[in-house]
Amino acid sequence: MLRVDLVIRGCMILTMGEAGLVRDGVIAVKDGLLAYVGRMIEAPSFEADTIIDGSGKIAMPGLVNCHTHAAMSLFRGVAEDKPLDVWLRETIWPLESKLRREDIYYGALLSCIEMIRSGTTCFSDMYFHEDMVARAAMEAGLRCVLSSGIIDAGHKTLGRILLREAVKIAREYHGVSDRVFVMLGPHALYSCSLDLLRKVRERAEELNVGVHIHLAESERDSANIRSIHGRSEVDLLGEVGLLGPRLLAAHCIHISDGDIVLMAKHGVKVAYNPVSNMKLASGIPRIKDLLDAGVVVGLGTDGPASNNSLDMFETMKFAALLQKARYGDPRVLPAKKVVEMATIDGARALGLDGLIGSLEAGKKADIILVDINKPHLKPIHDVYAALVYSARGSDVDTVIVDGRVLMENRRVKTVDEAEVMRRAEEKAYNLLSRRSVARGIARKILKI
Ligand SMILES: [Zn+2]
Repeated sequence: MLRVDLVIRGCMILTMGEAGLVRDGVIAVKDGLLAYVGRMIEAPSFEADTIIDGSGKIAMPGLVNCHTHAAMSLFRGVAEDKPLDVWLRETIWPLESKLRREDIYYGALLSCIEMIRSGTTCFSDMYFHEDMVARAAMEAGLRCVLSSGIIDAGHKTLGRILLREAVKIAREYHGVSDRVFVMLGPHALYSCSLDLLRKVRERAEELNVGVHIHLAESERDSANIRSIHGRSEVDLLGEVGLLGPRLLAAHCIHISDGDIVLMAKHGVKVAYNPVSNMKLASGIPRIKDLLDAGVVVGLGTDGPASNNSLDMFETMKFAALLQKARYGDPRVLPAKKVVEMATIDGARALGLDGLIGSLEAGKKADIILVDINKPHLKPIHDVYAALVYSARGSDVDTVIVDGRVLMENRRVKTVDEAEVMRRAEEKAYNLLSRRSVARGIARKILKI
């Protein structure tokens, strides 16, 4: 009898690894790691304090959200049906100038609960005061990749201050735990000077961390950049030395064939955010062409203010449908590939595929159980199609990260949901009436 910490019995296991789909499986967890993943009939007998009955459920790797701004849950629904530049400049940036550190903490914690409830176990975040996001993720029990937002918008001093803050947070968190990882987060080419981007590259190299940026999201901004520099955004990233396997580029909508070749050559990773791209009418990225070129593409929700949900099941469905519509071909982005993008490819995009993204012995025990005893999931002829086209985030029954059960029978165990909802709502309403806390240079930039 082998002694472990947790056992899940009788489930169908979608390993997303070499073993593929395992029917009537068992998963054993010890010290936060997967000790055994395989068929019940072949498994040794395990003894554990926690035994979960997985019958009627699919066990799969926790979903990986490659691009979000968790604290923006506070802005959910506050400015709707506006183009990206108007949305940012007229509503979001002025509101962000009023944010206090505690607002970011509660906004991020609210998002962590939403992510747990819809099966996300690891998220890649870009925002200010990322130490508050780390605090929320640690309390909720999620795994996260923090990218401190850096922007100069023509004001060198602001860029210097934000880069310094990003480096400070990177030093504080990088390599300290397997639950919190760090990247640097220069916002975009339209909001960061080339000089600042060069400095970001130098610091990222020194710190040995990746870089997370918004790339070619808006047609107008991409065209502006081309008219100023005479080159594409991807070309410019090459010029400042940022193209490489540790660059995570969100969106990548307005890119050329040449850009795709360059991205593939340098091993750039892409975060595809179909819902946000549709909502802000930013355009439809050429995911099929990126995949055909060999680029690794993960999925993201983008922030809750431009989505307005963090449900990765919904994102998987839109990810597939939008590409089929774009190429006029239903064979584009089949369901299995979309599940890969939400799990193992997402992990690859974040450089974490050695730890997460598939259920294989030795990897972290980041597992979700999807309850398939639901009318909208019967019958299951194809498990990938069921997950992408029929399942919803609310079908997730149990969530485990590092072997710790964060949610069981849809009850979140790590945080007081009612209290967080109350506090986050209070913070969001207070923000609308509060005066800006931005000073000096930030006020000038934001014109507030
Ligand atoms: Zn974004």
